[in-house]
Amino acid sequence: MAKRPQKLEMLKFVEDGQAYPEKREARLRAEDFQEIADKYAPEKAAEQAARCSQCGVPYCSVHCPLHNHIPDWLRLTAEGRLREAYEMSNLTSTMPEICGRICPQDRLCEGNCVIEFSGHGAVTIGSVEKYITDTAWEEGWVEPLQPGRPKGQSVGIIGAGPAGLTAAEYLRVAGYDVHVYDRHDRAGGLLTYGIPGFKLEKHVIMRRVQRLKDGGIQFHENFEVGRDATLEKLRDRHDAILIATGVYQARAIQMPGVGAPGVEEALDFLIASNRKSFGDDVPDFDNGRFNAKGKNVVVIGGGDTAMDCVRTSIRQGAKSVKCLYRRDRANMPGSQNEVRNAEEEGVEFVWLSAPKAVEGTDHVTAVRANRMRLGAPDASGRRSPEVEPDSDFTVEADLVIKALGFDAEDLPRLFDSPDLSVTRWGTLRVDHKSMMTNLEGVFAAGDIVRGASLVVWGIRDGRDVTEHMHRFLKEKKMAERVAA
Ligand SMILES: Cc1cc2nc3c(=O)[nH]c(=O)nc-3n(C[C@H](O)[C@H](O)[C@H](O)COP(=O)(O)OP(=O)(O)OC[C@H]3O[C@@H](n4cnc5c(N)ncnc54)[C@H](O)[C@@H]3O)c2cc1C
Ligand code: SF4
Repeated sequence: MAKRPQKLEMLKFVEDGQAYPEKREARLRAEDFQEIADKYAPEKAAEQAARCSQCGVPYCSVHCPLHNHIPDWLRLTAEGRLREAYEMSNLTSTMPEICGRICPQDRLCEGNCVIEFSGHGAVTIGSVEKYITDTAWEEGWVEPLQPGRPKGQSVGIIGAGPAGLTAAEYLRVAGYDVHVYDRHDRAGGLLTYGIPGFKLEKHVIMRRVQRLKDGGIQFHENFEVGRDATLEKLRDRHDAILIATGVYQARAIQMPGVGAPGVEEALDFLIASNRKSFGDDVPDFDNGRFNAKGKNVVVIGGGDTAMDCVRTSIRQGAKSVKCLYRRDRANMPGSQNEVRNAEEEGVEFVWLSAPKAVEGTDHVTAVRANRMRLGAPDASGRRSPEVEPDSDFTVEADLVIKALGFDAEDLPRLFDSPDLSVTRWGTLRVDHKSMMTNLEGVFAAGDIVRGASLVVWGIRDGRDVTEHMHRFLKEKKMAERVAA
């Protein structure tokens, strides 16, 4: 029988976070972890797994981007055959315990469970997936990465997020020398520095990265392509390249006062908080710039990044947290579960409101906003927000966080590669049959192709691109042999 993780270990992890030493915050975080601990309970996992009706058409698998064999591993879990359940789930995913934690299951597998359709509540697929793989780690069932017979070819991967790491793993298993370049000091991409630790604990990502390092994948951290090497230089060094750099250009908001001190970018705020939970020295957290403690916080935006900012602010001990969003609850892009969680934690949502100015000269003191109403649907079918005349109101603020989403950076310029073809949104243009860009042997995957998306889609793309790269590399080797 699998060991249940010790609650004390969980709480120690909370305390090791160090970012939130006060009792109130520590208690709040401990409660989060209590929730995680409850989901670990073996009886609960088996009980949930046994609810699966093993229906003929597995809509859950169809709607999982990885097409995980969900009913099969649920059945094995219900029968107590946990190791087999883990092995089955590991067949289709490089990070099942991560997806189990942070996939928006209500829109994917669980949202398409037939039991949910019949009104009895979906099987909690994500929690079971997390449980079986966490158990596999504890029990030592997660095998070290075994590199395949050396192929004598090397691959350079730019970006160590879920897409890059997934491709790195499969390519190493296929026998290639794999080098991963990332501009951060730690691998993981947004898993490490975007998504907060209360949703995805940092050690869960780091043990995955360590397994890849132990398997001989070479990580070049603090290596920024564009600054430390051009794309061309990397092409000379490797037989094929994968660009999996994600999207990091924060969408701007134009309004008077937006440059005032105290108005910050969402990702800077989240990175500081994530670094703190690694125990890093973060001067801009310590000097209060990225610390919400005791402040009136206003977050602008309605997506998942905004939800992470409001929930992080609460955990840091903010005095008040308000989220301004220009549409209503039904029309917001973020997950409804996240909104519910945030409300329960004390976040106030100011629906149908759009900021028009930031007040304060030396430092932000307030945000002036307009009330909005929803007008006629636009080309996409969504109702466009319109300003209500004479509807100004003011919200007190000491910290304003802009969380309006992300676009692609200008990669052709950054990589000194003006020929690299991009779409009108700045994402990389690929041939969808081969996942190759217009540059021979340069492939792309993840958010940099899709635009801001989900971790599970990054993993899917990383899996798919491996096959294409493998085919390309085989053909390249054959052509070189013929030419020799
Ligand atoms: C705050 C936030 C919360 C999110 N929460 C969720 C969630 O709960 N669930 C979910 O499914 N999705 C979530 N997402 C989306 C998800 O994180 C992304 O879709 C996913 O990480 C994309 O994977 P990727 O591998 O394409 O890119 P990324 O994870 O962005 O990784 C790209 C990597 O490339 C590196 N890089 C970029 N440029 C260079 C360069 N020039 N040289 C070297 N390295 C470079 C970056 O440092 C980064 O490590 C969230 C996103 C954000 C911003
Ligand atoms: S990967 Fe995501 S969508 Fe697929 S089964 Fe797991 S939690 Fe559900």
